Amino acid sequence: MRVAVIGAGVAGLVCAHRLTQAGHVCDVYERWPGLGGQAATIDVGGGHLLERYYHHLFTSDRHIAALYEELGMPDELEWLPSSVAFFLEGRSWPFTSPLHLLRFSPLSLRSRLRMGLAVLRLQRGGDDVAPFERMTARAWIVEAMGAEAYAKVWGPLLRGKFGDRADDISMAWLWGKLTMRRKLQGKESRQELLGYPRRSWEPLFAALRERIEAGGGRVLIDRPVKRLAAAPSDARPVRFEISYGAPGSFRSGHDPRAFQAAGSERYDAVVATVPNDVFRGMLDLELEDDYLRRIDGIEYHTALCLLLELDRGFSPFYWTNIADPELPFVGVIEHTNLIARERYDGRRFLYVANYLAPGHELLGLDADALLERYAPGLRRINPGFDRSWVRERWLHREPAAQPIVTVGYGERIAPLQTGVPGLILANTTQIYPEDRGTNYAVRLGADAAATLLGTA
Ligand SMILES: Cc1cc2nc3c(=O)[nH]c(=O)nc-3n(C[C@H](O)[C@H](O)[C@H](O)COP(=O)(O)OP(=O)(O)OC[C@H]3O[C@@H](n4cnc5c(N)ncnc54)[C@H](O)[C@@H]3O)c2cc1C
Repeated sequence: MRVAVIGAGVAGLVCAHRLTQAGHVCDVYERWPGLGGQAATIDVGGGHLLERYYHHLFTSDRHIAALYEELGMPDELEWLPSSVAFFLEGRSWPFTSPLHLLRFSPLSLRSRLRMGLAVLRLQRGGDDVAPFERMTARAWIVEAMGAEAYAKVWGPLLRGKFGDRADDISMAWLWGKLTMRRKLQGKESRQELLGYPRRSWEPLFAALRERIEAGGGRVLIDRPVKRLAAAPSDARPVRFEISYGAPGSFRSGHDPRAFQAAGSERYDAVVATVPNDVFRGMLDLELEDDYLRRIDGIEYHTALCLLLELDRGFSPFYWTNIADPELPFVGVIEHTNLIARERYDGRRFLYVANYLAPGHELLGLDADALLERYAPGLRRINPGFDRSWVRERWLHREPAAQPIVTVGYGERIAPLQTGVPGLILANTTQIYPEDRGTNYAVRLGADAAATLLGTA
C-alpha cells in the first residue's frame, strides 16, 4: 500500500516506521518545518537543541525505552535523580521523598498522613481503572484524603492544569497519574529517576525518518495537509486524495482550510495523527454521525510555555508545582537542575508552564509582555529574580495540548478505525486512562499501524 501519514509527531513517525517494516510505503506530511510535534526541539544556539516544551520520561515509560533499544540507541537515554517542590504559602516545599510529605506543614498532620496512605492504597489497589471512571478526582480526594488536601494541594493543581474544568476531571485521570509512574515503595521511594535523551529527542526522530525513507517513503516537513477526500472514481481502487498546502502555511495557523493549496497526491490508506479539530478541518469525506460526535465532544486546553535562558540558577528544584492560586502560571521547570548545565556550555534554562482554556487573554501576549506578567510571580518564588537575569526567551503555544478528561471519558473516545475502510485517526485524545506522553504516542503509533493492517 501507499499510505499517507498525517503528522510527524511521535505517533505519526512510529506508525510510518511500523508500516514500513510491514512492507508498505509511507509519505509523512507535517505542517511544521521540523519533526517531533509536541516533542519538537528548537536550536537554542551554540549547537544545542532543546524541546519547545519541557520533556522527560518516567521509569515506567517502557514503550519508548523499547523503541530506543530497537533502533540501536539504548545509550541515548540517561536516568537522573529528580527533585520536586510545591510552592504555596510563600515558599517552596520540597516534595521528593515520603519524608517531605510528613514535613509538609501547610497541611495538618492528619491530612498529611491521610494523603500518604490514600496514595499508597491506590498504588496497591491493582490495575483496574473501572472503579474510578464514574467519579470526579475531587470527590475521591475529598473522601480519601480530606477537604483540606483538596483545598490546599490537589484543587490548585487540577485548576492549574484544567482551569474551570478542574472539579469535573475524572478520577480515572488522576488514578493514571498516581499509579503508573513512581511507586511510594521500592527503589524509587526515596528519589524518583527521570529519563532524558542525551542529545534531546531529535536523534529519535532522525532515526525514524531514516527508516521510513529507507523503505521508499518520504518525510515531508513544512507540507501540511489541507484537504482529505475520496479519490475520484477513475482513480479506484486508490481510495484517498490528499491536497497539501504551500510551504510556510504554518504561519497562517492550525486550521487546514486557511492554507493555500499547492498540490495533491493519491493514497490507498491514510493515518491521521493530528488533533480532532484539525482532522475535522481537513475532512472532505462522509463519516458516521456517532464518530463525528465523539471527536467533536472532546475539549482541549492550550499549553503556553515560556522558555527562559537565565544567567544564574532560579531554584534548587527541577520541577516546582505552583499550588498558590495567585500566581498566573502552574509550574516552573528548571531543565538544568535535571540535566547538568555543562551539557549546554554552562547555560541555564527554565520553563514557565501554563495550561489555559482557548481564548484566555494570556494566550494573546508576546514573550516580553508575558514575562512582564509573570515577573511578580517569579519574584514570589525567588525574591531576587530580575528581568536582567533573562538572556534569551522563547514562547510556544500548543492549542491541542491537553484533552479534558471528564467523568465517563473512556466511553466517549473515538476508536482508531474511523468507519471508513483505510482511514485511521490516532491522536492524544485516545490515550486513556494514562496521561498523554511520548511513551504512549509510541504505543499509539504502533496500534494505529496494526489497526490499519487489520491485526489489532
Ligand atoms: C507542555 C507539554 C509538556 C509535555 N511534557 C511531556 C513530558 O515531559 N514527557 C512526555 O513523554 N510527554 C510530554 N508531553 C506530551 C507529548 O509531547 C505528547 O503526548 C506527544 O508528543 C504526542 O505525540 P503525537 O504524535 O500523538 O501528537 P503531536 O506531537 O501533537 O503530533 C501531531 C503532529 O501533526 C502535525 N500537524 C498538525 N496539523 C497538520 C496538518 N494540517 N498537516 C500535517 N501535519 C499536521 C503537528 O504539527 C504535529 O507534528 C508534553 C506536552 C506538552 C504540550
